[in-house]
Amino acid sequence: MPERGEGTGLRSHQMAWLADFVPLVGNETVERIAALAEPLGGLQVQHINSTKHGGGVAEILRSLIPMLGGLGIRADWHTLSAPLPFYEITKHIHNTLQGEAGNLSDDDWRFYEKVVLDNDHLVDRRADVVVVHDPQPVALIRGRDEARRWLWRCHIDLSNTNNNVWNPIAAYVKDYDHVIFSLSEYAQPLDPPAAFITPAIDPFTLKNRPMPEDQARACFERYGIPSSRPIVTQISRFDPWKDPKGVLEAARIAQREVDFTIVLLGNMASDDPEGARIFADLVKERDERTMVLDKGDDADLVNALQSWADVVIQKSTREGFGLTVTEAMWKARPVVAGRVGGIVHQITDGEDGFLVESVEETAARIVELLKDQALAKRLGQEARETVRRKFLITTLLERELELMR
Ligand code: UDP
Repeated sequence: MPERGEGTGLRSHQMAWLADFVPLVGNETVERIAALAEPLGGLQVQHINSTKHGGGVAEILRSLIPMLGGLGIRADWHTLSAPLPFYEITKHIHNTLQGEAGNLSDDDWRFYEKVVLDNDHLVDRRADVVVVHDPQPVALIRGRDEARRWLWRCHIDLSNTNNNVWNPIAAYVKDYDHVIFSLSEYAQPLDPPAAFITPAIDPFTLKNRPMPEDQARACFERYGIPSSRPIVTQISRFDPWKDPKGVLEAARIAQREVDFTIVLLGNMASDDPEGARIFADLVKERDERTMVLDKGDDADLVNALQSWADVVIQKSTREGFGLTVTEAMWKARPVVAGRVGGIVHQITDGEDGFLVESVEETAARIVELLKDQALAKRLGQEARETVRRKFLITTLLERELELMR
């Protein structure tokens, strides 16, 4: 076995970890990243979001921050502190920005801005670049000075946004130097120039590294998930846009034809107060073939299900990108997912997964995949290749370094 970094020509020992990516993305990509990073050495970048825990943004930052550090860029990550009513308001902002009807009162907006500005001390006055993620901390820009560049990084689907709420948010965004959306169709008419960077996964995390079947089965046993029947799963925050109810309805229909256990697994993001309410509702649906678990912080369990479930569902009705789809595709699973947002950019229907638009279609695809293992295997293999080519974190790193240059 070659030593880490051996034969890659990487410039310094610090960057040797990048060599682990060579077998996946090729030497040229890794060399490009090293070359892009070199003149940025010593740059100080601060990321600010609303939770260290749960959701795709935290997932990306957990990998990205040490990677930037390994490239000689001083990257830090800070998180807002706020009382629960703030997160009720910001979840409402999130939902309306994704298209739900409604508005916020003037009092809500005042409270929102006050809480954000109480976090002004978070902004690191030594940072050259401050990257603010999503609407929750966007108002931090009110405290900007000219000494640093401010980027707003939006991860949500704004293609059908509610202008009652978008317009006040846009009034903050206009003062940023740059905005980044996950997809070009989420762009809004704004003064700051926009860049588009799709999210991506780190193949070397506990969640994404290869998991042998016996280890996965032992993990299932710990959680009481039977291995005697096929397993169909959706792993997501308990959120209306992820449509967990629709998944259970589809499972009920499919279970009339094929026998399997449906496992809904989720975790609770600290900035998402809706989760506990939705979980409590779903728990009522449990039966012998229906498991609803809130143990989604166990990366081993997520990995075990994403690696060894027979079908992975992501029946979202809106989805900024959908890292859960990427993760399951990387593990060569057949994925059945909503034809929305970022999912459409990941799955080519019938080639490396299935796109669906209804409960009935979801049920039909579950039945088809459980009955036709060759089809399931083919889609899974194609899916892994799609992720290898397009959605590994090296692609994201390269795009972000280009932008910082
Ligand atoms: N996740 C997890 N456990 C759960 C549910 C989700 O670890 O029970 C992770 C999931 O693996 C993924 C991220 O949280 O890395 C969710 O990202 P995605 O883009 O799919 O959705 P978001 O929650 O950001 O809307």
